[in-house]
Amino acid sequence: MFRAVLCLLSIRLLLSGLVWAQKPATKHYSADQWRFSEPSPDHLHPLRRFLRRPPKGFVDLKERIPDIHLQIRYHTPHNFTGAPLLGYGAPGAWMREKAADALAQVQDSLRKQGLSLLVYDAYRPIRGTLAMVAWAKRTQQTHLLKGYIATRSGHNRGHTIDLTICEAKTGKALDMGNAYDTLNETSHTRNARGYALQNRLLLLRVMRSAGFRPYNKEWWHFSFRMPAKARDVPYGCYEPNEKRWRPPKGWEQPGFQMPNAWTPRPCR
Ligand SMILES: [Zn+2]
Repeated sequence: MFRAVLCLLSIRLLLSGLVWAQKPATKHYSADQWRFSEPSPDHLHPLRRFLRRPPKGFVDLKERIPDIHLQIRYHTPHNFTGAPLLGYGAPGAWMREKAADALAQVQDSLRKQGLSLLVYDAYRPIRGTLAMVAWAKRTQQTHLLKGYIATRSGHNRGHTIDLTICEAKTGKALDMGNAYDTLNETSHTRNARGYALQNRLLLLRVMRSAGFRPYNKEWWHFSFRMPAKARDVPYGCYEPNEKRWRPPKGWEQPGFQMPNAWTPRPCR
C-alpha cells in the first residue's frame, strides 16, 4: 500500500515537473489584463512575485501593515498618463521605515472604526517622476508642472504617500468627491461639500495626528517629515538597476507611445 502511494506521488511530481518545464520562461503581460476593479485584491496580485525586496531603510507596506489595502495605479494604465509608469513593473508600495511606522499608527486608529487605508502610491522611483514630466511635455500640458506634477517629488524619497480611506472589509473607498489624481482645483482638500468634505477632513486629521503633513492641492498626498535621499530603485526585477537606467528615445516628443506591456522576470 505504502509503495503504491509513493509510486502515485512520484508520478504526480513528474507530471507537475513536465507542466512547469512547458511554461515559457518569460510571458508578456498586457497592462489591460490587470486593470483594477474595486475593491481591488491588489495584495494578491499575481505580479507581486516580480517585486524586488525593498532597498535598505525601506519596508514593504503590505508586510509592515498586513491589513492595509493597495491599489497601485501607476502599475496599470488606469492613471492620468494612460500607461503603466516606468519603474512600476510590479505593483509595490515601499516606504521609509519611520514613515511606515507612523502609517501603522494611522491604520490602528482607523481599524477601530471598521476602516482602513487604501494606498494608491508610496515610494516612486525617480524614473517614474521623470516619465510623468515627459508625459506632460509630450501632451503639451506643462501647466500641470506647476503644483500637480513635481519634477522631484517627496515620493522619490520614500516618505510621501498618496492614499485614501476605505471600508476595512470590502476595500470600497469612501466618497472623496472626486477621483484620485484629478489634477485640478476640485482636488484641493477643502474644495468639497457634505460627506466628501467630511471624509477628506477625516483623512487629514488621522494623517496629521501621526505626524504627516498634508498638501492642500491634493487631498490624497501626505509627507512625513524626515531627511531622506531620492532613489531610483524600480519595483520590478526585470528593470535596469539604479544608475543604469536611461529614458527611452524620444519620450518627450509628441506621438511617443509608452509601452503598455511588461516582460516580468521573477526575482533571484
Ligand atoms: Zn503624491
